[in-house]
Amino acid sequence: MTASAVWRPFTQHALEPDPPTIVRAEGAWLTTADGARILDAISSWWVTTHGHRHPKIMAAIAEAAQNLDQIIFAGLTHAPAERLATELVALAPSGLTRVFFSDSGSTAVEVAIKMALGAFRNRGVARARIAALDGAYHGDTIGTMSVGERGVFNAAYEPLFYEVERIPFPGDGAEQAALDALEAAGRRGDLAALLLEPLVLGAGGMRMYGPETLARLAEVARAHGALVIADEVMTGWGRTGTLFACQQAGISPDILCTSKGLTGGAVPLAATLATDEIFEAHWSTDRSKTFFHSSSFTANPIACAAALANLAVWREEPVAERVTALCEAQAARLARFEGDRRFRNVRRCGTIAAVDLVVADPGYLADVGPRLRAFFLERGLLVRPLGDVVYLMPPYCVTEPELDRLYEAIEEAGEMFGSSR
Ligand SMILES: *Cc1c(COP(=O)(O)O)cnc(C)c1O
Repeated sequence: MTASAVWRPFTQHALEPDPPTIVRAEGAWLTTADGARILDAISSWWVTTHGHRHPKIMAAIAEAAQNLDQIIFAGLTHAPAERLATELVALAPSGLTRVFFSDSGSTAVEVAIKMALGAFRNRGVARARIAALDGAYHGDTIGTMSVGERGVFNAAYEPLFYEVERIPFPGDGAEQAALDALEAAGRRGDLAALLLEPLVLGAGGMRMYGPETLARLAEVARAHGALVIADEVMTGWGRTGTLFACQQAGISPDILCTSKGLTGGAVPLAATLATDEIFEAHWSTDRSKTFFHSSSFTANPIACAAALANLAVWREEPVAERVTALCEAQAARLARFEGDRRFRNVRRCGTIAAVDLVVADPGYLADVGPRLRAFFLERGLLVRPLGDVVYLMPPYCVTEPELDRLYEAIEEAGEMFGSSR
């Protein structure tokens, strides 16, 4: 047993060592209490976009705190939220005109599902089924686990889950099977929404599919009267090469969820964007048609100020160029694994690079995950493979020499842990 009172996320305390204490974060680097430096190659669980403690975001937080803390957001409003909503609407795919604030990715998805079901119910239409992809991850609340991939992570809670229409993962060669399954589900006439992570299934193992497939899935869903919900909690803010992944498919979802990089990753905030139609379905003199959702920290002013500063960074700094450079730098380095028998499924979507290590005992719970983590940490690198899936999702300030260190370490890991096919 450890001395710490903390119960950590996704941590088997009986097997894992006490973690290092971080005392400082800057750019792509974390510093531990004993002065060691760790390169954060996973953007602290995919949230840090520009780098840790971007000066403009930190300054905006300090400034907002001079005047505001949490303000109840029903019946009162404040400038940071009003401005942020306006600016998000201007940036988001067209047609998304209403912004509902919450505080985590899971909550943003819960809000999206509630909006979709509420819109149909308020219009007197009997549609309440959600279609979701095999391998999906949408959060860790009961509602979002229900739509996510079922497995060892959530087996204990399964009795509480609702039924979901499963669509096969539309990866290489399986596109038509996915479209056919969605078509069949759509024909039954009770689909409220197709919920998906556009282009990359993150926690499901960095599984990637193409923008044409995304566009066709959206088209099939709509042809059958279902809404399209894009969970851009991970893919947003440049991760896939564009501001939002949906833009690559040329689609505007009916509902879009964003969180993680919304504040540049500095503080928690989430937003669920919706169309006028969905908002109008809740617009009524009949109070029972109200959108009944809130969380205590809805639209926290300090978090909204951080998000506004993030948007300013996107406007004022060459972020798009940095993203493009990172895409290219990842592509150039990934190429070395093509044809290497210790790795397979070499893949990249935008700034995200992933390979599967060929190991005797694959799968998320295999021992290799924690052993790889320890291997990288010993080398001052924060890399957290999803089982045998090794991926890099660094902040955009990462340098080419830093990437070289990461790729050399992955190669070394291949030698140590890989078993060639
Ligand atoms: C991380 C993530 C979530 C959940 O976000 P939290 O802030 O951890 O609740 C939801 N959807 C996707 C696609 C994610 O990557």
